[in-house]
Amino acid sequence: QGDSADYDSEVESVCPFCGVGCQISLKVKDGRVKYVEGIDGPANENRLCVKGRFGFDYIHHDHRLTKPLIRREGAPKGLNVDPGNWGEVFREATWDEALDFAAKGLKGRGREVAGFGSAKCTNEEAYLFQKFIRQGFGHNNVDHCTRLCHASSVAALMENVGSGAVSATFNEIENADVAIVIGSNPIENHPVAATYFKQFAKRGGKLIVMDPRGTALKRHASHMLQFRPGADVSMLNAIMHVIVEEGLYDQGYIDRFTENWEAEKAHLAQFTPEKMSEICGIAPEVLRDVARTFAGAKGGMIFWGMGVSQHIHGTDNSRCLISLALMTGNVGKPGAGLHPLRGQNNVQGASDAGLIPMFLPDYQTVTDDGVRSAFTEVWGSGDFSAEKGLTVTEILDAVHHGDIKAMYVLGENPAMSDPDVEHAREALAKLDHLVVQDIFLTETANYADVILPASAFAEKSGTVTNTNRQVQMGRPAVPPPGEAKEDWWIEVELAKRCGLNWAYETPADVFAEMALNMKSLSNITWDRLARENAVTYPSLSPEDPGQPIVFGDGFPRDGGRAKFTPASVIAPDEAPDADYPMILTTGRQLEHWHTGSMTRRSAVLDAVEPEANCSLHPSTLRKLGVEPGGMVRLTTRRGSVEVMARADRAISPDMVFLPFAFVEAAANILTNPALDPYGKIPEFKFAAVRVEAAQAV
Ligand code: SF4
Repeated sequence: QGDSADYDSEVESVCPFCGVGCQISLKVKDGRVKYVEGIDGPANENRLCVKGRFGFDYIHHDHRLTKPLIRREGAPKGLNVDPGNWGEVFREATWDEALDFAAKGLKGRGREVAGFGSAKCTNEEAYLFQKFIRQGFGHNNVDHCTRLCHASSVAALMENVGSGAVSATFNEIENADVAIVIGSNPIENHPVAATYFKQFAKRGGKLIVMDPRGTALKRHASHMLQFRPGADVSMLNAIMHVIVEEGLYDQGYIDRFTENWEAEKAHLAQFTPEKMSEICGIAPEVLRDVARTFAGAKGGMIFWGMGVSQHIHGTDNSRCLISLALMTGNVGKPGAGLHPLRGQNNVQGASDAGLIPMFLPDYQTVTDDGVRSAFTEVWGSGDFSAEKGLTVTEILDAVHHGDIKAMYVLGENPAMSDPDVEHAREALAKLDHLVVQDIFLTETANYADVILPASAFAEKSGTVTNTNRQVQMGRPAVPPPGEAKEDWWIEVELAKRCGLNWAYETPADVFAEMALNMKSLSNITWDRLARENAVTYPSLSPEDPGQPIVFGDGFPRDGGRAKFTPASVIAPDEAPDADYPMILTTGRQLEHWHTGSMTRRSAVLDAVEPEANCSLHPSTLRKLGVEPGGMVRLTTRRGSVEVMARADRAISPDMVFLPFAFVEAAANILTNPALDPYGKIPEFKFAAVRVEAAQAV
């Protein structure tokens, strides 16, 4: 880093990795981003983590797609393409040829077509993508990776609170005196948010960490509850049982703002700490202490991550957290709130923009005739199906059944990210037409018939919405490489060729259309974002920077009340047994992002964490006769991978943690595709696994 003499220009934008949404300044020299600094955004106040600071150079990697590609006649589909040497499989094409070819395989095919959009794209691109499928093909078979991260949290929040977004920004922890962080590893996955959590603990706030893995946040915790994997509901119901038993609930709040309390109270009677302790592994006195601590807070916040959501009982886990906040009156006031920490930089925005099969923008349901006609009026087109569409995993099942034959995939990588990934790869290979729009030749692009080269975050304009409901402006600092184009332009050109009358000339035109049917964008305009960089929704006036806390005067449900939904204990789908005696859990690491397509092409991040790895307790390694750094074989009912093993005392002896960024040991070869019935999210966090030494010792 250096002073202004070191660069030709600087451009303010937003970090492309996690949902924290740190604002950055990109310093550009000779047409390349030279370095990045944090600036004073509302979520980061100049802070950045290692990914935001050093993970930008993938945009200049020589694997970038620079020209449209069409698969050569007869070239077999599969993971056989070298991203730096694809000439035997694909040939270069002009944009006209590639777009015509892409459209020809989609146009007029109605329900045979489905789409996966992306939480890495902008709000405008997500909006256009869902509109493309709905207006162009008449149905709702469009989804994105929210299905794989917080779908169950959103299902529970919509059901019980009436809104899928957070009730308070994470920065509000500054005003809390107690905070629960459950099923989340923010020091690795939301590092800048974690700095606020650590400061909170340092100034005396009580930080209650609950996780089957002992995360790095443990060091800062007043209470660490390392409960048995999958036992969330037992543990949380036991804590709430104590709150009821000892009369620690907020009756005034419950009477004024909630419904179904008596049913919840009666349901909790059976979950005594003594009984639940046997299931969750946490001592009854600890459960009682946590109940008293949280219920005694003036302001208590609850943060959760995918350790909560990625279970077949993920919706029930979130229902418990919502009930805990409601019974203690910890919603809608300073230092209180519900906050599912969003993973991707724009998973909140893409979901808000309607990139989900059951909801149009702003979570307006597709089954409502009035809602659909409000959209078709703006779109100037006829109606589309009132039937909820298929989700990510259901779409790939429908490909296997021959019901879906063509797909448009923008910025997603299901050949790495889906559970039981061989099943997903087989589905992609079966498609008779696959259009992939991306910046790299991803594992999914290996199955494409046509590849449309897109833009990285630093090459385009567009808004993104972070975990805090902050809509922020992203700006181009450098041009896309070669003939690559901005994603919104590609979507518009493809739509025109599929017969749609789209006349957008800029992303600002798209944003203006979005605002017509999205109340969340009231008082938020493109020009305002260009001036102010960020506005939190809801914003009550053109001058209001937005509301960090919502639901202080009621909830967006009929009658204005939130609801208690009792949750029962549901065991994980696969119990460990003699053949598969241990538990596999998957997730991210600090240095690598999701399927690795960006961070493994970032020099600093790849140098720090170059190799596929898993974590096992030292005692487990000893039993296996494997030294730290040695290779182990992990086998589940779906498949097997070999991977380097690290010793990690934070993980319990019956568990193995496997990051999912490494194609050479793809975690999702192993994961269980069993779904939560409400959110349709797979159980990525629990699979029965056998662990063996991979080589003679
Ligand atoms: Fe980027 Fe998230 Fe790190 Fe902030 S915390 S710099 S948004 S990866």
